[in-house]
Amino acid sequence: MITVEEALAQLFARVEKLGVETVPLANAAGRVLAETVSAKRDQPPFAASAMDGYAICSADYQVGATLEVLGESAAGARFDGIVKKGQAVRIFTGAPVPKGADWVVIQEDVDANKNQITIREVTETKPYIRPAGTDFTTGQSIDAPQILTPQLIALLASMNIAQVPVTKRPDVALISTGTELVMPGEMPGPDQIIASNTFGLKAMLEQMGAIVRLLPIAHDTLPALRTAFDLASGADLIVTIGGASVGDHDLVAGVAEELGVERAFYKVAMRPGKPLMAGRLGDAMMIGLPGNPVSAMVCGTIFVQPVLRAMLGLGKTAAAHHVATLSKDMPENGPRAHYMRAILENGEITPLDRQDSALLTVLSQANALLLRPIHDPARKAGEKVAFVPL
Ligand code: AMP
Ligand code: MG
Repeated sequence: MITVEEALAQLFARVEKLGVETVPLANAAGRVLAETVSAKRDQPPFAASAMDGYAICSADYQVGATLEVLGESAAGARFDGIVKKGQAVRIFTGAPVPKGADWVVIQEDVDANKNQITIREVTETKPYIRPAGTDFTTGQSIDAPQILTPQLIALLASMNIAQVPVTKRPDVALISTGTELVMPGEMPGPDQIIASNTFGLKAMLEQMGAIVRLLPIAHDTLPALRTAFDLASGADLIVTIGGASVGDHDLVAGVAEELGVERAFYKVAMRPGKPLMAGRLGDAMMIGLPGNPVSAMVCGTIFVQPVLRAMLGLGKTAAAHHVATLSKDMPENGPRAHYMRAILENGEITPLDRQDSALLTVLSQANALLLRPIHDPARKAGEKVAFVPL
């Protein structure tokens, strides 16, 4: 058996970053920016008014000053003339400040009468003017790689970047194996159960931006598995679920080897999820997950997600470990790292009572995996422990 860290290192040694494609900005949210991009203009491109009011000369910003209103500068329609001392231009938010003016007085602070205004109140120490380029200037860059959040999408738009270089979405083929499995919505026979973690994994990997193909369930026969691998062709990542153990009906490793998988490892010292295999199959990376619903989901979090992140160009890093305060005592851990389903609330973490790797109800209550390293000594309530958020 190898450790989780060794297993992850083995996976990272085999994973390749995917290529780059250009997508329209409107479709770029959630994608990974693959190359540094830079602003194609200044924002604002001109000194702009920050309020509705009057553009004036700062020397005129005095109580009682009466100014002649020359015209109007609106957003999208500037005033072309020059403002001199004793003059003003009606101005609105986002409009260019006319030449000559270096102050905007808000409309609430003046009395307007036909073509004249009188400044009633002087309250400000700086003008309501946004200088040109105050948000960003031409050439200012957004670094890659990073996930494009709604905030970054707005910034890209403002920079006039209409086409965005992003990492290609990983094509993931999911193969569920097991003669006992049927799809949700189908009528299970008396000895059958519903394929569940398949859908959980699909959701998990899609959340990260993968395109996930659910292949038909492969029964535990060699021809069925061969067909499934055949259907997976073209994928960047093939994930099999179940059949990766050493039982008589666990055929995944055999078929994968027959197809030329260069096998990386087979068993990992962790709970849940001990049987796990991985390697490269042609151009694809392959990960064989255990079938137990919770094991599959935990291995999805600990192994498949980091592999996908690496494919997306986000670096080769393990699932982020955070620290919380333990709410109750725990006995010593055994020879395998334990990823305990736990509830994290207000910085305090509580392992759930039932840790059987078949219990999806327990997993569904959990929002964290409390991490017990190999041979972790007994822990007392109040101690700091590591966890991976779910
Ligand atoms: P295996 O790894 O094939 O030995 O499967 C271990 C356990 O997980 C068995 O009880 C299987 O019935 C169950 N199992 C395997 N694949 C799935 C799946 N996709 N959804 C739910 N349960 C599964
Ligand atoms: Mg099976």
